[in-house]
Amino acid sequence: MTKGIEGLEMSPIGGLKKAGVYALSDDGKCVQNSYLMRNIVRYAKSFNLPILDHCEDMAMFNGGVMHEGEWSTLLGIQGIPSAAEEMIVDRDIILARDEDCRIHIQHISAKEAIEKVRTAQKSGIKITAEATPHHITFTDEQIKHFDSNFKMNPPLRAEDDREALLEGLRDGTITVIATDHAPHNETSKLVEFDHAPFGIIGLETAVSICLTQLYHQKVLKLSELIAKFTTGPAEVLGLDIGTLKDGADADITIIDINKEYVIDKNAFFSKSRNTPFHGMKVKGKVMATICDGNFVYQAK
Ligand SMILES: [Zn+2]
Repeated sequence: MTKGIEGLEMSPIGGLKKAGVYALSDDGKCVQNSYLMRNIVRYAKSFNLPILDHCEDMAMFNGGVMHEGEWSTLLGIQGIPSAAEEMIVDRDIILARDEDCRIHIQHISAKEAIEKVRTAQKSGIKITAEATPHHITFTDEQIKHFDSNFKMNPPLRAEDDREALLEGLRDGTITVIATDHAPHNETSKLVEFDHAPFGIIGLETAVSICLTQLYHQKVLKLSELIAKFTTGPAEVLGLDIGTLKDGADADITIIDINKEYVIDKNAFFSKSRNTPFHGMKVKGKVMATICDGNFVYQAK
């Protein structure tokens, strides 16, 4: 959306469209100037590009490192209030309404923000949202161990936020599951919790975690869960992909929904190991991945 994701100057959106981009984002940062954001939204609409927004009011964020709530108080750690997310979600809903454009809320985490999206969708505003596997699995209580593999932004929130995410997935407010994959090397995470970088990896564990937490826990039917990984994201991006219909690309994931195993970070293909899921017993495993008709991954 902005040059150097600095939030100061709009990127050359027409040129980006010509170069083949499917969507615009400043992910990791968030455009704070709402007038600039409105201009971006208008340009994006004229080029038929959706906006994917990392929603965070930086003044409210104020150097926080975990969710602001009971646990941040107990641990004496600077918190990130849910309002930091909710304020920007509110702004984006207003812009999507006034400009009649599409805005997708990335890694939504706060119950108040989910409720705002639900209400906006009911009034026909083109706002969509995604959830991450880690926000549906863990809460801020995990921070009591000071393990920086549980430090991400948006932060793990409270149990009622986690339940709101499950409800949002169940009732269709949230149509996408995305990992917010953020690799870091081991040494950068091996520092005091306050100083560790935000972010975890999630690509290699997403399907197993979601089958365990959403399908086997009976939050979603299998077809609903698959849609959140396939047609849901495709609709947000306006792409005719993610289906097995006649003539579709042979991009296929083969899953054993009942295979149980223990997640081992040392078996990852990623060079990074910053996962909160290491050692977790899960049910459901990717057995093979076919991309463009070729096997690119097969489980041992
Ligand atoms: Zn982000």
